[in-house]
Amino acid sequence: MEESKSVMFPKSLHEAWKLYHDGKESSCYISGGTWLRTQWEANPEGTAKQLICVDCLPGLQTISTSSDDGETMVTIGAAATLSQCLESPVIGESFSGFITACRNIAAPAIRNQATVGGNILTAAGDTIPSLLVIDAQLHWFNGTDIESQPLSDWLRERENDGANEEERILVSVTIPVKKQEKKGTAFSFYTKVGRREAFIPSVVTVAGTGMLTIEGTLADVALAAGGGTTVPGRLPDVEALLHRARFSPELLKKVHEKIMTDYSPPPDPFAGVYYKKTVAANVIIGELYRLQEQQSDDKGGVGYAVRS
Ligand SMILES: Cc1cc2nc3c(=O)[nH]c(=O)nc-3n(C[C@H](O)[C@H](O)[C@H](O)COP(=O)(O)OP(=O)(O)OC[C@H]3O[C@@H](n4cnc5c(N)ncnc54)[C@H](O)[C@@H]3O)c2cc1C
Repeated sequence: MEESKSVMFPKSLHEAWKLYHDGKESSCYISGGTWLRTQWEANPEGTAKQLICVDCLPGLQTISTSSDDGETMVTIGAAATLSQCLESPVIGESFSGFITACRNIAAPAIRNQATVGGNILTAAGDTIPSLLVIDAQLHWFNGTDIESQPLSDWLRERENDGANEEERILVSVTIPVKKQEKKGTAFSFYTKVGRREAFIPSVVTVAGTGMLTIEGTLADVALAAGGGTTVPGRLPDVEALLHRARFSPELLKKVHEKIMTDYSPPPDPFAGVYYKKTVAANVIIGELYRLQEQQSDDKGGVGYAVRS
């Protein structure tokens, strides 16, 4: 017979923290429950007995903007749903890659429940690459204070210390809004590759942002890759290769080679390491090639053919 679970509805972060730590061995925070339910289906014995709902905590569902010293920040409450993000004008205007990521997760019924915080906490959610390239910061409740941490640092910690469950409560995610630059055109892309178009875990997800300057060079390029069970990460050495570079077949070849070296996803039963590396490299090169074509069209020139 299935063991019964208790579901707790704390009224504050302090209460949620206390409930979790009082019954730590058998407790688990829950938001939309859409990821947790897939874990329970796969391993009913591993289910926590006490579920502590954090999605109803005051303020955790809010999406807001603030300005400080000329810099605008968007704050997404950890319990904001993916649907809420899709409907938010400020997110739609500023973070198109993140919007594409949200739109490509599951179906509307799931997106109405699934939260941004829950997606991040899985450490492999499909929104993560899109958040990495826009320098998202996480804000945690640690039992007494709110502490901040770049998403990239937290992911690195998870990768090294994966067995330890996160004990803090994710409260919000903040993202800086980049100012419109006069010196070029901003670009952003997000691509999710799965074994079929929808309702399937991703094999590879890549995201990128940057600028094409009026001098015809690339600037401020940020790239991230993940997908499946891979803990997503930035590709700093690939970004460095592209910084201030001009498009050329040699550049794209070098970038492809560097992604093949630097991106190291684990294998899974359906896709090997080489396959995942190749998909990530080809998708990023495809996006860069598209940008180059766009640049050539703008100038009335001819694009290069790429072989990789
Ligand atoms: C049919 C289906 C399709 C799906 N497709 C995709 C997909 O394409 N891509 C994808 O990325 N995911 C997918 N998912 C998984 C899931 O829907 C998403 O990852 C979702 O965003 C998880 O959010 P949630 O609020 O439901 O998280 P939950 O299931 O509530 O929690 C996920 C994890 O986060 C922890 N947690 C939640 N909130 C907090 C908090 N505030 N502080 C600390 N810990 C917290 C929980 O303890 C748990 O470990 C799918 C799920 C289903 C059922």
